Amino acid sequence: MKSPSPTSENTGARLRRLEKRLLGQLAQTSEAFKLLEPGDRVMVAVSGGKDSMSLLSLLARIRERAPFALELIAVNLDQGHPGFPTDVLPSYFEARGFDYKIIREDTYSIVKSKIPEGRTYCSLCSRLRRGILYNVAQELGCTKIALGHHREDTIETLLLNLLYSGQIKAMPARLQSDDGRNIVIRPLLECAEAEIAEYAALMQFPIVPCDLCGSQDNLKRQRIKRLISELAGENPNVRGNLLAALGNVRVTHLLDRALLGDAEPRGRDTWLDAEVHSPAETAGSGVRTASPVAAPDESLIPLSALRR
Ligand code: SF4
Repeated sequence: MKSPSPTSENTGARLRRLEKRLLGQLAQTSEAFKLLEPGDRVMVAVSGGKDSMSLLSLLARIRERAPFALELIAVNLDQGHPGFPTDVLPSYFEARGFDYKIIREDTYSIVKSKIPEGRTYCSLCSRLRRGILYNVAQELGCTKIALGHHREDTIETLLLNLLYSGQIKAMPARLQSDDGRNIVIRPLLECAEAEIAEYAALMQFPIVPCDLCGSQDNLKRQRIKRLISELAGENPNVRGNLLAALGNVRVTHLLDRALLGDAEPRGRDTWLDAEVHSPAETAGSGVRTASPVAAPDESLIPLSALRR
């Protein structure tokens, strides 16, 4: 694969550092959740946005260093959106030497005919897309389907499910489809969106616009994004803490009877033992607070899992 041509020494150094960091996070997630395994043939779903373009590029770098055989095939689904630039992705894949397949299915017309004007298309559009991608993965003999979702996607999904669906659920790093035919993986799930965006810009990927469908933005997700940004303005660890919470679940302190079973829950009580309280809650109350949960230092994510 050809390397990008950095415009300056600083840009090149920044790109190398950023790539190393993203590769380290990707390798760590992959190792923890068995995302990439010997002999895998991975279908990388490439929409042409910054996330999927970065995913493809980073997986290609991982493949160069992996101690086992790993095949990648980039798949783009052209959904018939007006103005979709059909030549951009094939030219890029060929220039970079990627195996690829372009699928053309006019889901746009189906969605337009089924969804009343003014309603968002996303639910039907993504259902149709998922079905097509699952079938294509089978036809291509792929063992996994890689998607470009990142940290912000999963923490926004967590809050959306908490606030609007009454579920504690985010995005899985690895998931087998209901019918057992496909395994979906999300190697970038612990990577920060801002770093992926910077990487994509430094790599000068030819980004395909994501608003061609003309659908309204998902308004609830936009609100959640704004909420997280606002909170992160007060405490820069908010995004990292939300991600860390997904790997630090205290079942005993929830109300899921199926998970709790008959066992007697044991441990510190959040209120009586003052495990974690904000200063505002406890000021003047005489309650002694334990140290708040330490936020992970985002600059210290170990790179040990990256095999060279
Ligand atoms: S934003 Fe457009 S392309 Fe994306 S899921 Fe919604 S309707 Fe489909």
